[in-house]
Amino acid sequence: MLRQLAVLFILCVSACAAPTPLAPTIAPTASPAPLPTMAPAGATVLPSDFGKTRPTLDANAAPTLPTAAPATTPATVGADAALRPQFSQDLERLQNETRYFIQWDVSDDLGEIHGRQRVHYVNRTGKTLDGIYLRLFANATPGEGGIEIHQIMVGERQADITLSQNDTVAHVAWGEPLEPGRAFEATLDYTIKIPKDAKGRYGDFTQTSWLTTLPTIYPIIPAYDAQGWHLETPPEYGDVVYADSSAYDVVIDAPAEYQVIASGELVQETPQGNRIARRFIAAPMRDFNANLTDVLEKTLAAVDDITVTSWYKPEDAAQGKRALDWAVNALRVYEKRFGPYPFRSLNVVESPTTAGGIEYPGVVTVASNLYRDAGQTSFFEFATAHEVAHQWFYSVVGSDQVNHPWLDEALVQYATTVYFEDRYGLAVAEQIRRDYFEAQYQDGKSQYGNLPAGLPVGAYDENAYSKFVYGKGPLFFQAVRDQIGDDAFFRALQNYYREFKYLNAQPQDLIHAFNQASGQDITPLYLAWIGQ
Ligand SMILES: [Zn+2]
Repeated sequence: MLRQLAVLFILCVSACAAPTPLAPTIAPTASPAPLPTMAPAGATVLPSDFGKTRPTLDANAAPTLPTAAPATTPATVGADAALRPQFSQDLERLQNETRYFIQWDVSDDLGEIHGRQRVHYVNRTGKTLDGIYLRLFANATPGEGGIEIHQIMVGERQADITLSQNDTVAHVAWGEPLEPGRAFEATLDYTIKIPKDAKGRYGDFTQTSWLTTLPTIYPIIPAYDAQGWHLETPPEYGDVVYADSSAYDVVIDAPAEYQVIASGELVQETPQGNRIARRFIAAPMRDFNANLTDVLEKTLAAVDDITVTSWYKPEDAAQGKRALDWAVNALRVYEKRFGPYPFRSLNVVESPTTAGGIEYPGVVTVASNLYRDAGQTSFFEFATAHEVAHQWFYSVVGSDQVNHPWLDEALVQYATTVYFEDRYGLAVAEQIRRDYFEAQYQDGKSQYGNLPAGLPVGAYDENAYSKFVYGKGPLFFQAVRDQIGDDAFFRALQNYYREFKYLNAQPQDLIHAFNQASGQDITPLYLAWIGQ
């Protein structure tokens, strides 16, 4: 996520330096070092039914479930459909990942979704559980839409559902303990109300006349780490999702006139009357995002075997094409600097959000007002490059966005300057650091004192969150680079990206990567800038 800025930064980009053409990306070799397994020893590895013909859902639980229409394309698709061919085996590296099978029937007016969802979860916590938790982020803004779960079936049993944290947490119990390594499978039946022209949470979950945005509105299992389950009530600002990389098989049945922009790969389209059921495979991904539109147009480009698509309002075509150019070049820079992007697709979507942009796996949204305001072109480019960088740090390498927001946001801010550095030269990157991060940080210091950049989102007010996490935080990375040199700095980030691919990293993992690559101890820098 990137907050809109109250002040305007005029970056000397196009006038000062011509974009440097980048060397073509070299195709990465397959099969990086094996990952530590996510499952405890002795865990049950279940046979994969992922990608096979969708099973019939429990008929008793939802007698109204429409009968599946005959498929127009073969029903069996690869579970690796979202991955570039050279990374097709990546899914196998995640043992016992959670699997979501979701069927959404979107009403004709796009106001409501009837959802049927099967969740297959293996207890990877190492502890016996009395149930599992689901996060219901559709309920995060009271009065603006929401989700109501009608029923959860576990086998033949109807589960007990206990809501808490302003209805953003559901505890699901079915009268039996779930031992480590054992599997649990639930079938959920729910209704989601989509709010019109919503204002809460940067308007990230809303129906407008030109785009309906559906972020993490389905029930999702939160991450479980050394602190246990993550059930925090999210503040009104900042990101909310902290979840494990999972496998998503999602069918969105919607009126035929709408295009669907979603995480992962569209693998099947089934027209039926005036509706189309579109099936997406998104794996391994830690969230699933979807957007519906009958207005946006698109332009696309190939970067090797990755398709980058920019979606924009017809009247913003010129800016939509610029967004494509920035996204393509950002992708190239980050692949070269941090490591390969593993997925086939990346979408950049003009959005009604009041944030500068918001990141999701395979999808980034960028605020429509940035497409509109010629005076904000530099920030528009910055926001686009920022959101694309989240594909590396948030989407592929996960982290706790609520308690350690600096770990992705400050790093992504710094990565964005690397985009400007590689494309326009050091002077432009230095100008951004000076005029942007340094100025924000100094401003923050004068208002709040010198707060650490490493606090949880909720420990700051919204303004301080922006000043310290997005202004001060990236200066830490510059300080590290200055101390250990370019070679060790980028090697550390490449190692971190490879080692924690599809996993969740903690702050000490990143510090360890810098220490290991440099042979130095950067802890004093960490304490000085990030604190905690
Ligand atoms: Zn961000």
